[in-house]
Amino acid sequence: MPRPIQAVIHREALEHNLARARAGAPGAKVWAVVKANAYGHGIERVYPGLRGADGFALLDLAEAERLRALGWRGPILLLEGCFEPRDLEACSRLDLWHTVHCEAQIDWLAAHKTGAPQHVLLKLNSGMNRLGFSAAAYRGAWQRLSGLAQVDAIGLMTHFSDADGSAGVSHAMAEFDAVTRDLPGERSLCNSAALLRFGAERPSVRGDWVRPGIMLYGSSPDHPAHSVAHWDLKPAMTLSAKLIATRELQVGDSVGYGSNFTAPVPMRIGVVACGYADGYPRVAPTGTPVLVDGVRTRTVGRVSMDMITVDLGPAINAQAGGAVTLWGHGPHGSVLGIDEVAHAAGTLGYELMCALAPRVPVRIE
Ligand SMILES: *Cc1c(COP(=O)(O)O)cnc(C)c1O
Repeated sequence: MPRPIQAVIHREALEHNLARARAGAPGAKVWAVVKANAYGHGIERVYPGLRGADGFALLDLAEAERLRALGWRGPILLLEGCFEPRDLEACSRLDLWHTVHCEAQIDWLAAHKTGAPQHVLLKLNSGMNRLGFSAAAYRGAWQRLSGLAQVDAIGLMTHFSDADGSAGVSHAMAEFDAVTRDLPGERSLCNSAALLRFGAERPSVRGDWVRPGIMLYGSSPDHPAHSVAHWDLKPAMTLSAKLIATRELQVGDSVGYGSNFTAPVPMRIGVVACGYADGYPRVAPTGTPVLVDGVRTRTVGRVSMDMITVDLGPAINAQAGGAVTLWGHGPHGSVLGIDEVAHAAGTLGYELMCALAPRVPVRIE
């Protein structure tokens, strides 16, 4: 028998979450963001659920190749653009749209020999201070691009630094509007947080194309302020395993490496076939939520490479072989949000889903 752990990718949840993105940004086209191997879910595995998108956005040429190999003929956007001049040949061959965030990328375009002009998105730095032209340089870059025979359409783009927090998007929006006001071209601004919080009411934030990532996978971009239930999103990934042993602890018995959990009362614990080498966060402390046979309980002691230990107090009938849900859908309609596990471990749903380890077998449902 293979080790009892598996991940399931839920096609219906992806379809539901994509529909939520459309409903949250009425009239806008949707780039489904599938960077980082579709946030750990696998590009090939999410494709059936997300093929209703208007385009796919990602970072790697190899991932763009995989989408074309799946038969996707629609738009694909490189969110960081080209990394070297040669990448423009791949853009021509694979018919990719690409972001332009610096002068060097314009130099490469100017020197690129192509029969088919390319579609670019010119990126404004609106406060994130990672990629993009400053407000002062943006229009000069637009002028340069618009004079190139290698370019046929110039979209206008920015990425918000604070869409999920209290600062919001107002400051960045004011800057984007001021700089781009009289420029032609399609606009693209929203990540999941901006889409969910502002997309429905504010057409200027919504723009022509939205770029949801995390919401498509059923994690809330602003947890714990708002949960997936609040945003009506469904988990696209379940990570489940089984109990491979149970054990009675006496008062004073400790558990796991470092003996950092000690039973304060007699208790029953279960040992789960899942550890940090499967992508479960090693930093998850005692008390991280977990489901056993669909009943909510908690981890106890340290996460090790191949195992975690859980309190069976709330799941008194659980035996070796019992079903453990690390996140996602459990038995009897139970659900454990990936955001809750991430929050307990001091991180985000993004990091947990991206970290799903290659040794975990994955099924599509
Ligand atoms: C990753 C990314 C997104 C998607 O962000 P989410 O928070 O996952 O919705 C959108 N735009 C750009 C430029 C990105 O890099």
